[in-house]
Amino acid sequence: MSAVRVTGHPGGAGDFVVASASVPGRAWCVTWVSEGAAWCPCPGFGWRRWCRHARAAQEAVVAEARALTAAGTTGSRQAAADALAALEEMFS
Ligand SMILES: [Zn+2]
Repeated sequence: MSAVRVTGHPGGAGDFVVASASVPGRAWCVTWVSEGAAWCPCPGFGWRRWCRHARAAQEAVVAEARALTAAGTTGSRQAAADALAALEEMFS
């Protein structure tokens, strides 16, 4: 099951469209606020205050955050490489 972000920024709060597993063609709009805090209009959520759609949205946010962290690491690695290149140029 995958969640598709429709509002908000990657890694943050927003709305997600999650396809229903039981009803083909049906989708739920999940509002994800923070870890463990989400809202879904499906019946299951009404019972347990959590559902597979909320979990799918949360997994999507975690994946986004992970991708952002990886991108950030690559960025700082590049900055470090640039700084090193500049130093080498200075001493050559
Ligand atoms: Zn749900």
